[in-house]
Amino acid sequence: EPLLSVRDLTASADDKTILHGIDLAIDPGTCHVLMGPNGAGKSTLGHVLMGDPVYTVGSGTIEFAGEDVTDLSADKRSLAGMFLSFQAPVEIPGVPLYSFLRTICQKRPDLKMTARQFRKHVTALAEELEMDPAYLTRDLGVGFSGGEKKKVEMLQLLLLEPKLAILDETDSGLDVDALGVVSRGIAAYRERTGGALLVITHNTRILERLDVDETHVMVNGRIVANGDAALIPNIDANGFEQFEEAVAVAE
Ligand code: ADP
Ligand code: MG
Ligand code: MG
Repeated sequence: EPLLSVRDLTASADDKTILHGIDLAIDPGTCHVLMGPNGAGKSTLGHVLMGDPVYTVGSGTIEFAGEDVTDLSADKRSLAGMFLSFQAPVEIPGVPLYSFLRTICQKRPDLKMTARQFRKHVTALAEELEMDPAYLTRDLGVGFSGGEKKKVEMLQLLLLEPKLAILDETDSGLDVDALGVVSRGIAAYRERTGGALLVITHNTRILERLDVDETHVMVNGRIVANGDAALIPNIDANGFEQFEEAVAVAE
């Protein structure tokens, strides 16, 4: 039985329909990639899966771990084991990263730790990610470089150990260091938790070191192609224009 089942999902914002009947199934522990040109609706799908109230679900269902989560709050989805990394991580002046992470963990009964256990765990994860421990006491996101924000994202992922991690990668290119951080973080997450992944990107370099099971292509709010890892070099070579016919038929 799939971990995530999305059926005929339609979603809109500001009375504009962005997602038109999305079907997607992700089995436990598998790695899926969602690709597509700018403005296709990839980030919207990530946010709708996570329950972002900015978007209105018009039709369809989202089932996660055997439960219909279509109408659940983002908090409840997070408790159920869903995780979404943000393209632009929040900056919260006055809240140190350490306190932020502690607060998130305290909301999760399955991650109960004493203050001391938490400190040990977070410090070890920061060390593993080669993060300067000084960042833990700095205000969240404020003045963090792209690579440092990626480390924070991976730290959250390794701390929360979700059943499904949706990683929405920035469209602006990651530098080599940030790429390394993400690859190592993802590898550690998969190894340690056996969790599933939905990696949203149009940067194929990030995928080179990933063991991809399935690839999905989204154009104009529709999934127009599904395949295995071989679809990635194909898109690299031929772009998204090759799906134009499928898009025209769907529309
Ligand atoms: P992608 O991540 O594939 O680049 P997005 O999901 O960010 O695409 O956006 C898809 C389309 O939906 C774009 O036309 C974008 O302007 C529109 N859109 C996304 N979010 C909103 C929103 N909150 N309000 C209005 N339009 C939105
Ligand atoms: Mg599947
Ligand atoms: Mg996007």
